[in-house]
Amino acid sequence: MIAIYPGSFDPITLGHLDIITRGSRLFERVIVLVSSNPNKVPMFSTVERIGQIEQSVSHLTNIDIDHYDGLTITYARQHQAQILLRGLRVLSDFEKELQMAHTNKTLADDIETLFLSTSTEYSFLSSSLVKEIARFGGPIDHLVPHHVARDVYQCYAQTQPAAMPRPARPKSVGTSPSVPKPMDHR
Ligand code: ADP
Repeated sequence: MIAIYPGSFDPITLGHLDIITRGSRLFERVIVLVSSNPNKVPMFSTVERIGQIEQSVSHLTNIDIDHYDGLTITYARQHQAQILLRGLRVLSDFEKELQMAHTNKTLADDIETLFLSTSTEYSFLSSSLVKEIARFGGPIDHLVPHHVARDVYQCYAQTQPAAMPRPARPKSVGTSPSVPKPMDHR
């Protein structure tokens, strides 16, 4: 059986890698499908994300990597895949993922969405969290493969002035500057 693991992977994290590794034990072939999320401006181009994933899964023999910006089920049909693999972390994932699974079911009744629950150690981990930590100079080596950590830091080193705006100067005495918060709660 062929499974597709679709996502933005901007960038791939150890949480994604865990799902890919476990999927590779369950299926004959897993296709990691990089797609663009129209609601997010990506940090890395599709080509960069594919390169990062390729390097991360080089030890696994039954993984393919591809990109597609159309409907995942169209791609699945074209590649004889019967399963859409997704990962579930917290309750907030559940609502979005269930809606997507139901929608895909109405579009393609013969393709099943299969959820793997996150491994406990990665239950909090997301690509946005990694970017947020790196943006403020925190360590991310325990959250993403080493080559990905290097790419993320490099990206922030190049875009430092825009990524880390200086606090606004107070207009009058007594007004305190707005200091960037270390993290948003999402
Ligand atoms: P998308 O923008 O399509 O949600 P992501 O790259 O953020 O793409 O995630 C792809 C899939 O991987 C989703 O099913 C997501 O829930 C899952 N995923 C992301 N991070 C983790 C993690 N730490 N543990 C398990 N699954 C995860």
